[in-house]
Amino acid sequence: MEQFVGGLKSAGFEGEVDASPQTLDFYSHDASLFELRPQLVVFPKNMSDLSRLVNAVNQNRDSIPNLNITARSAGTCMSGGAIGESIVVDFTKHLNQLEHIEDFRAQVQPGMLYREFEKATLARGLLLPTFPASRELASVGGMVANSAGGEKSLEYGKTARYVKRLDVVLADGRNYILKPLNRQELERKKNQRDFEGDIYRKLHELLETHYDAIKAAKPKVSKNSTGYNLWDVWDRTTGIFDLTQLFVGSQGTLGLIGDIHFRLIRDKPHSGVLTVFMKNIDQLGEIINTVLEDKPASFEAFDNHTLMLSMKFFPYFRKTLGWKGLIRLGFQLLPDALILLKGIPKMVLLIEFTGNTAEEVAQKVHAMRLKLEPFKLEAMEEDSTEAKAWKFRIMRRESFNLLRKKVKDKHTAPFIDDLVVPPPHLPEFLPKLRDIVKKYDLLATLAGHMGDGNFHVIPLMKIEDPAERAKLAPAMKEVNDLVLSYGGSLSGEHNDGMIRGPWLEAMYGKETVELFRHTKRIFDPNNIFNPHKKTDSSWEFSMSHIRQSF
Ligand SMILES: Cc1cc2nc3c(=O)[nH]c(=O)nc-3n(C[C@H](O)[C@H](O)[C@H](O)COP(=O)(O)OP(=O)(O)OC[C@H]3O[C@@H](n4cnc5c(N)ncnc54)[C@H](O)[C@@H]3O)c2cc1C
Repeated sequence: MEQFVGGLKSAGFEGEVDASPQTLDFYSHDASLFELRPQLVVFPKNMSDLSRLVNAVNQNRDSIPNLNITARSAGTCMSGGAIGESIVVDFTKHLNQLEHIEDFRAQVQPGMLYREFEKATLARGLLLPTFPASRELASVGGMVANSAGGEKSLEYGKTARYVKRLDVVLADGRNYILKPLNRQELERKKNQRDFEGDIYRKLHELLETHYDAIKAAKPKVSKNSTGYNLWDVWDRTTGIFDLTQLFVGSQGTLGLIGDIHFRLIRDKPHSGVLTVFMKNIDQLGEIINTVLEDKPASFEAFDNHTLMLSMKFFPYFRKTLGWKGLIRLGFQLLPDALILLKGIPKMVLLIEFTGNTAEEVAQKVHAMRLKLEPFKLEAMEEDSTEAKAWKFRIMRRESFNLLRKKVKDKHTAPFIDDLVVPPPHLPEFLPKLRDIVKKYDLLATLAGHMGDGNFHVIPLMKIEDPAERAKLAPAMKEVNDLVLSYGGSLSGEHNDGMIRGPWLEAMYGKETVELFRHTKRIFDPNNIFNPHKKTDSSWEFSMSHIRQSF
């Protein structure tokens, strides 16, 4: 690596490089089950540095075997996308600036944390409505590369919908602009006799030849982060060819993303939440379908294990909220203590409605309460403003992080953490899912985006114990088979990475996965971008890199 670093510096690389043991330790992990120790971490200062890095990798590939690049922004990936064994490139140290916001458009560098970005957009009354539950930790680059979604995705969709242009560095080391092209622009690109021309020619041919099969392969769910979004690239009817949609969700396997151009929205000014406490979840599936009839803005939930953890580790919330926020949370929860004293509910549902006036919102929330009364639920609480509803939202958003940080004897094992099943099937699906969780004796929390049928099942396991580890493959197979038997997706937002990449064939079949692999080869013929993820992953490799240190 010394020779590589020397070459990189003499090529004018302006950022820093670091191979100290502490740095390599830190970058060996993200929020997944896996551990990959890099040989070098680099901190580029600008797009030219990204080009210099890719050029240096291309020049040294023959002398340094398996030289490759893993992009990393805030490192909160749950599928192992942000770790690699060669060079990790950190975008958060320097490439973290907001360029500008104008007319519902923002241009921002990938390493900017979402929470900072949101401060700037809200100051102009605008919002990127696809923030994940990890909104306090994640960056906008990781949101794009994983195609993140969150509590507002039920109403506003996922990150892909808001990406209008991406400035990228591709495998030839050059900078390119990706944006929607019309037929004439596409033809001009295809006529170029260079790497970019090759990409447009080859990909257009692939998408034309397999047009119907690709459109049919699109998962029939409201959220999907698996595979490559080939179905959203080329539209024969409109004649639009849009590579941004392929890069969204590609986990850094096709190239490096620099500046991102987002479309923003003006959020509805008022919102309120009906909080529902359920002691018995037998009717959950039916309730979900009933709630969805009224098209709530968001519909989130978490279970009794999550609630208990939030209570047990209450002081933890000071980290995110500060002392003032913690005290406010405590006071707001006092009235709920009475309900909780009667027994911990099995599930808490948060059903949000938005509107242009406070009255409109209060009326919608109340109407939902009346509609749910026949279910004879434990308790319902009408919070006609976002401020009042905030207390349980915080628990929902922080649930996974709380598990990661606080439960010391066991570890979060995200391997069935992001399944999606079309909501009409949930009454049948959920009891079967519970049976599998019981069968493998998985102490799991369940939280998620009910409205999309997107559930985060997070078992707590002693993953260093071989007997526990041996449960991963069979439990995952049973859950995946069940999800797929209902036409679902294995990931709504956390992506494939090392954990679900090996199951892509089970979900899409060999032919579609071969189209994904072909796409990867078009962009990255020498596999220099994030190997062992998505279509390049294998169960053997992933399982031999289960995290050893916590
Ligand atoms: C507590 C917790 C809760 C979560 N809740 C949600 C949720 O509700 N919804 C959701 O969608 N996700 C959730 N996640 C997963 C994760 O936070 C999101 O996917 C987030 O968008 C990742 O952002 P990041 O900046 O941490 O990306 P990273 O982890 O750094 O990277 C994610 C992927 O993007 C690639 N990448 C990063 N930057 C670039 C770049 N500049 N160019 C090319 N590729 C790049 C990486 O290689 C990696 O494959 C959660 C995670 C945690 C820990």
